Amino acid sequence: MNTGHTRNSTRINETTPLTLSCVDLWNMRRCACTEIQQLPHAILRHQWESLCATLKYAHTHSVHYHNTLAGHSLSPTSSEELAKLPFTTAEDLTHWQQFLCISQNHVERLVRLDTSGTTAPPKRLAFSHNDLLGTQAFFSIGMRQLLQKGDTLLVLLPGAMRPNGVADLLRQALQEHHIHILTADPKCEPQHLIPLLQEHPPHCLVASPTQIIQLVQLVQTNILQPSLLRHLHGILSSTEPLSPAIRNAAYATLLNTPPNDRKLPSLLLDHYGMTESGFGGGVECPAQQGYHMRWLDMYIEIIHPITLEALPAGETGEIVLTTLTREAMPLIRYRTGDASRILSSPCQCGSPLPRLDNVKGRIVRTQHAYRIEPVTKGIFHAHTSSASL
Ligand SMILES: [Zn+2]
Repeated sequence: MNTGHTRNSTRINETTPLTLSCVDLWNMRRCACTEIQQLPHAILRHQWESLCATLKYAHTHSVHYHNTLAGHSLSPTSSEELAKLPFTTAEDLTHWQQFLCISQNHVERLVRLDTSGTTAPPKRLAFSHNDLLGTQAFFSIGMRQLLQKGDTLLVLLPGAMRPNGVADLLRQALQEHHIHILTADPKCEPQHLIPLLQEHPPHCLVASPTQIIQLVQLVQTNILQPSLLRHLHGILSSTEPLSPAIRNAAYATLLNTPPNDRKLPSLLLDHYGMTESGFGGGVECPAQQGYHMRWLDMYIEIIHPITLEALPAGETGEIVLTTLTREAMPLIRYRTGDASRILSSPCQCGSPLPRLDNVKGRIVRTQHAYRIEPVTKGIFHAHTSSASL
């Protein structure tokens, strides 16, 4: 058993001095902002310019938005005006060709998203070469919080090994840092990972919370020897909401390695993204106080799931996504079905930008109410509703 002690001494706590989130430093560079306190204003200005450009682009090039945006202002000047535009729903994406803004010949990756338990046609999301480059840039920035040159990264997410899937995009994003990227079939039983871990003990994992807790259980039941995780110092959790209990168990069991000479602290960081957001969306900084978002690539609204009215910062509702830089298939006011809220207080890392709080689950609507349900889609064995990542 490896449950005797935790490595709380190496965890980031409230008194640990932190540097500004790498995502927000990236945001600063992208909008040529030199003063951190000016960043919120600079981001808003860029978002609004990109939003208007996206509306005009989508209205001109996409059949769907040519129809749904007809008669609406394509130059909204406030969130109230933006809120008058129609939503885009998951069901709309079954008619994915109507969203295309480029020729099908120029689609670099087409992702099919099955919906389990229905006979409805699948949703599809199309990405251009430039769309995928944008995702790679975000992956490169976010993962540098967990990786050092020459590290081995094991990616366990379903579908990650496809061409231009998550692992492939990570490989392209991190190749200049000489990161050795491994994938494992997430449909296998978790103990089948052991030979891979023996041959290539990883420094970092990308895994779902379900996979993380399965690894914790393998260690706790002595099926997986902790020595196979002796190099493990970083975990990126993705695809499902991460509970505090799973985070704590991972720190206590998977990241419970002796002090080392690495420059980076041992960290488990949560990531929020979906295929619709171009895989990447936002990632925690070491303070672990919500996701630092790709604010120059997306505009987020939080709405009440029943009244559909915009909710202020701090109130939990449905995340509504508008993409700002996508070429193949921009999405305008896309109802994600995910529940979260905006955190407006400054982060411990010093960022004054708002952050998206950790996702609470999926919103399930009933006739006059709604509830938030947990999500489980990253399990090791087959799960038909998982996205083709
Ligand atoms: Zn931060």
